[in-house]
Formats: sequence, C-alpha cells, structure tokens
Amino acid sequence: MSIFDKFQPIAATLQRLLQSGESPFGVVTEELLSATEGVINGKIVILAGTNNYLGLTFAPECIEAAKKALESEGTGTTGSRMANGTYSGHVNLERELADFLGTDSAIVFTTGYQATMGVVSTLMGQGDVILLDADSHASIYDGSLRGGAEFLRFRHNNVGDLERRLSGLGERASKALIVVEGIYSMLGDRAPLREIVEIKRRYGSYLLVDEAHSMGVLGEHGRGLAEEAGVEDEVDFIVGTFSKSLGSVGGFCVSRHPEFELLRYSIRPYIFTASSTPATIASARAALAMVRRHPEIRTKLWENAHRVYDGLKDLGFKVGPEASPVIATLMDNREHAVTAWNKLLSMGVYVNLVLPPAAPKSSSLLRCSVSAAHTPEQIDRIIEAYAVLVEKGDSAENYKVAIT
Ligand code: PMP
Repeated sequence: MSIFDKFQPIAATLQRLLQSGESPFGVVTEELLSATEGVINGKIVILAGTNNYLGLTFAPECIEAAKKALESEGTGTTGSRMANGTYSGHVNLERELADFLGTDSAIVFTTGYQATMGVVSTLMGQGDVILLDADSHASIYDGSLRGGAEFLRFRHNNVGDLERRLSGLGERASKALIVVEGIYSMLGDRAPLREIVEIKRRYGSYLLVDEAHSMGVLGEHGRGLAEEAGVEDEVDFIVGTFSKSLGSVGGFCVSRHPEFELLRYSIRPYIFTASSTPATIASARAALAMVRRHPEIRTKLWENAHRVYDGLKDLGFKVGPEASPVIATLMDNREHAVTAWNKLLSMGVYVNLVLPPAAPKSSSLLRCSVSAAHTPEQIDRIIEAYAVLVEKGDSAENYKVAIT
C-alpha cells in the first residue's frame, strides 16, 4: 500500500500512449523560431496548437516593453498584490482594462485560472446557486466546488435547459450566477449570449462570461463575445487571461458593480500568491494597446481561421459547429486520435491532442488553433497534413462522432 497507488492508472495510460509514438503530453519545444514555428525533436514544426491567436509573443513592441520593465524593475515582485507586489504597472494595467471594457474597476491576477477560480469561489458561497455550462473550463468547475455553493450544470449551449433549471429555483434564481464562456476552448463554438442575457434579465440573475479565448478575437474592437453580441451592459462580470491573445501570463476580472472592488480583500488566490513579474505585466499592457490599435491583426486571424475550418470540413473531418480560431476535429476513439496526432507531428504540424475527460462528451479530438501570424503557406501546409491523414487510409469516417 502506498499513497501513490491511485496514480497507477495514469502510468498505464501513458505507457499505452507511448506505444503510438511521442508522448503527446510531454512535448518539449526545444527552440522557438517565431510565434508560429518551433523545433520539436530536432525538427522544425508549424505551431498550430497554441493559444497565440494574435501572434503577439514575438511582437517587437511587447518584447521591448518587457525588456524595459525587466531592466528597470527587476525579475520578480517577490510578494502578493496585497503586500509589496503591486507596482504601478499592475495598477495601470487594471485602469487600461477597465477603460477598454467600459467598467469602473478591474482586478489583475497572476493567472487566468486564479482569476476565474478566485472570483467564482469567493462570490458564490454556501446558500448560493451557480448555473454553469457543462463544457466549462476547469477553473470554473474548481471555483464552483471550492466556494461551497450549490452548482447545477446545464447542457452545453442549451438555453432551454438553462431556463428549465433557473425556473426550478424559484426565488433563489434572482441570486443565482450563470457562468458561460465566450469561445469554448475545445470545440471553438460561442455561447448564445443574447438569449442567455434575455433569460438572465427575466429571472434577475447574475452573469459571468469567461472571455479567455474571445478577448482580442471577437467584437469590432476585440472586446470579446459580449461586444459582438451587443450585450456588454448586461454582463455582470467578465474574466479573461493574458495567456492567449495577449501572449503573456496573467488574468483579470472586471465588473460594472461598484461593490466589486471589495472582492480584492477576500479572494484568496489574489491575496496568497506573488503578483506577476514586471516584464509579464509590461508585455500584457503593450499587447492590449496593440489589440486596440491594430484591428487588422484580428481580420487576418479570421481569414486564417476560415481557411483552416473550411479546409478541414471539406476534407470530411467532423469539425466544431462554427468557424473560429479553435478548430477541433472529433475522432471516434482515443487510438485514432493518438495515431493522427503523431502523424501530424511527423509531417511537421503540432496540434493539441485532447482526450477524455478533458474533451466534451467523452470524445477525443485534435485541437488545431490558428494564429494571425500563420502565413498563407503555413495554412496550406496545415491543411495538406490533415489531407495526408485521410489519404493514408484513416478515412475521415474514423474522425466522425455524433456530437450535437
Ligand atoms: N478560462 C478558460 C476558458 C481557459 O481556457 C483557460 C486556459 N486554458 C483559463 C481560464 C486559464 O487561463 P490561464 O492560462 O491564464 O491560467
């Protein structure tokens, strides 16, 4: 008997995965050549499995800002936001985010996970009810579990199911928090936000939208799904991350409620961890400024996203329900997914492999993510690699699963 016995199933799964080739969960990028190219196993590959939607990780403006902050403010803050870890950069970024998103205040966290998990678990405690989409990210589930609130899952993007559950709550519905995501990270589909807002308004509930994958990506100004859907005034809380479109690390929450600032003194993942490094904050600020000043980067991203989505769909792959920078191809089983992932890597294309329970509905999928920085030739090569998968006898039938 050992405290490690419970991890044995992981060892068995890892061993099975290794039989098909590389370990999909142990990939080391040995060298980065650009936002879209790296060296893996000594070979140059196209990076099509990152969340680097705007390709800003190598933007000279962001690198310059980070370098400056590193040189003038040092490598780390060595303390929490509540103690010595709030520098002017953190406060300025909070102001810039509030200004960008049209709220009075913003709170910056060290990671997006901490932002979502911290806000949900602190806002919602015993006696409260959370209604969350079944495909929610782990940070939303963990926040719901940790705070001790009752939580009810509604079927993914199913407004009828959400309403049924809300109506069953009686008077408690007016204090319930509905949690959805802008773009869902696995299938790349959006929440039906206008309908959700309509229901929320009717029941007097609160709404939190995690725009981790949609900020910088959706909306005329890049403010996310709430902007695209024209419902920004109706969303009570928006959380997001700097680790995707902004090419840095960190997270934030904004709210239009004046009491929101009080959460700063209660959120444990804000209080009991060191704040982001000055360089991290500086590059996030520079990237946010680029989102605001350069809408053409977003236009390029969508051109690339449509090309890959249409390309893979035309090849017969079962893709997610709508085009987005996250393009999932659904596999009928884990073995096909692992084999296909290895084949793509051997053809110089890195994508993410997602296996149950991380993928929705116990499916296995390849998650290709597109960047504005992918060149037209790289987009061609990504589609060609998927085409070879089909030619090699792995009929696209293998990649089809019933998912609604
Ligand atoms: N929310 C969602 C929907 C996410 O997909 C992620 C990251 N995958 C996070 C939150 C956490 O963000 P971070 O990487 O900044 O911790």
